[in-house]
Amino acid sequence: MKLPKKVTIQEVGPRDGFQMEKEFVPTENKIEVIDMLSECGFTEIQFTAFVHPKAIPNMADSAEVCAKIKRAPGISYNTLIPNKRGYERANELGIKKVELTMSATDSHNISNLNCTSLESIVRLEECVKLGLDTEITAGLAVTFGCPFEGRPPFERVKMLVDRIVALGIKDVGLADTSGVGDPAQVYDICSRILDAHPDISFSLHFHNTHGAAIANILAAMMAGMRHFDSSVAGLGGCPYAPGASGNVATEDLVQIFDSMGIETGINVDKIIKAAERTAQIVGHSDSSTLRAWKMGQLVEGGPIIQKNN
Ligand code: ZN
Repeated sequence: MKLPKKVTIQEVGPRDGFQMEKEFVPTENKIEVIDMLSECGFTEIQFTAFVHPKAIPNMADSAEVCAKIKRAPGISYNTLIPNKRGYERANELGIKKVELTMSATDSHNISNLNCTSLESIVRLEECVKLGLDTEITAGLAVTFGCPFEGRPPFERVKMLVDRIVALGIKDVGLADTSGVGDPAQVYDICSRILDAHPDISFSLHFHNTHGAAIANILAAMMAGMRHFDSSVAGLGGCPYAPGASGNVATEDLVQIFDSMGIETGINVDKIIKAAERTAQIVGHSDSSTLRAWKMGQLVEGGPIIQKNN
C-alpha cells in the first residue's frame, strides 16, 4: 500500500463536541480543554462557533472563549459560522480563518440554517465580497448521506463544490455529518471530486455512527485526501442530524496513523490526557483508546497499538 508520509488532523471537539452537550459546559472548562489541545501538536483547532445562542446555547460564550484561550504559535484557531453576521463577528474578534457551513441537501440545509443550499452559497458570496482579512473555507455537511434525503448524487455534490470554488474558496470540507458513509462510496466521491478539483485542499469530516469513520478516513486517504477532522474523546454530533453520533476520536486516529508510520505531529500521551480530562468534564466519551485504558490494556503513556505485532 502506498502511504503518504504525513497527514493533517484538525481538532474539532471544542466546537462539534461541546455544541452537542445538553448541559452548558462551563466557559473555564472549555478554555481548559482548548489550552490542553494547544499543547498536543495540532496546527489547526476549530474551537468554537459564531452561531445564534438560541440555536446552539453551548456556543453562547464564544467571544469570551476566544478572548481567554492561550494561543500557541503555529496553530490556526478557526471557528464555524453560518452567515455574514458570524463572519463579521469572527473578524472583529481577530479570528484569522472561518468555516462557513452549508449542506449538500436542501432539507438538511433548511433544518440547520433555514435556507436552501444555493441560498447558503449566496451567503458565502456575501462574506467573500466583504473582503475582510479572515480567510474563508466552506464545509459541506451531509455529503455522504443525509438523514432526510439519503445519499446525495455525486453531481449535486460536485455542482455545489463547483460554485464554492468559483467564489475563490481554496479549502472545502466534505462532511459525513450523520456517519452513514461507507469506504467504497467515500473512495468514489473523493476520487471524483479530486479529479474535478485537483488544486483545492479538501478536508474530510467523519462521524462514527456505524463505527466506519476510521475505515472511511483510510478510504479517503487512498483516494488522495490528506486532511482530516477528528474530535477529542470522540465527542460530537449534529443538532439537525437525528441519531448521529460523535466524530472519530482524535486519540484513536492519531494512534492508527502513528502505527502506520504516517506523521501527524500530534503527541499521543498529551492527546490521551486531553481526552481523559474532556471525558471527565462532560461525563462521557466515545473513544476506543479511553475504553481500552479503562480495561487496563494500556500501559500508561504507551500507545494502544504495538508495532509489528
Ligand atoms: Zn460534525
